[in-house]
Amino acid sequence: SKRSRLDQFFAQKLQISKKAVRQLLLDNRIEVDGEICKSVDLQIDEFTHIRFDGEWLQHHTRQYYMLNKPDGVVSATKDRIHPTALSLLDNIDLDLMHIAGRLDLHSTGLLLITNDSRWSEMLMAPDTKVNKQYLVTLANPLDESYIAGFLQGMHFGYEDIVTKPAKLEILSTFQARVILQEGKYHQIKRMFGRFRNPVLALHRESIGSIKLDTQLECGKFRHLTEEEILMK
Ligand code: URA
Repeated sequence: SKRSRLDQFFAQKLQISKKAVRQLLLDNRIEVDGEICKSVDLQIDEFTHIRFDGEWLQHHTRQYYMLNKPDGVVSATKDRIHPTALSLLDNIDLDLMHIAGRLDLHSTGLLLITNDSRWSEMLMAPDTKVNKQYLVTLANPLDESYIAGFLQGMHFGYEDIVTKPAKLEILSTFQARVILQEGKYHQIKRMFGRFRNPVLALHRESIGSIKLDTQLECGKFRHLTEEEILMK
């Protein structure tokens, strides 16, 4: 998250000098988290509540949601053709809101949306080893050789990387559960592509300990619980 000094924030927001900010503080015109503030060097972030002459300059609170993403909805803030995942969050302040781990246009299931960039960066950092679990429906029959292939890792020429060991469980002839610890571009489709087996449907069931709520209908969202936010 973006930490800055209070005087920097005001100088930028009001386009005034830091000296002018000091005067505002002396005149008791600045309120931080409910109290009159006197210190120029106070450290603030995007969730510090700030008022100037009684008017809100900033009053974001941290928000965390899970959305059951429908097919045909794009994981982006803006799109000219398709509806966006964020547009499904009606009556929510979308300022700073972003998706923690995208899904492809036709993929469905668990999408996490937050305005807390520290949290989403922690969750999606390459070295956090958070499991992402998917239910995959294939066009052609599966067999045991897929398990070793996914575990071994595959070389992706375009990025010149080898995928981390992924777990594949065969559920039925055309259905598998896949667990990844990363999320390269179209990763699952590309991995099944090695077996010349097109993915017909891809549904994310969980990210770490956060499971898609079975009560949540397609296209619906809810707040994360405290435990989910803390990943307990
Ligand atoms: N892998 C894909 O190919 N698509 C997704 O949406 C997620 C993982």
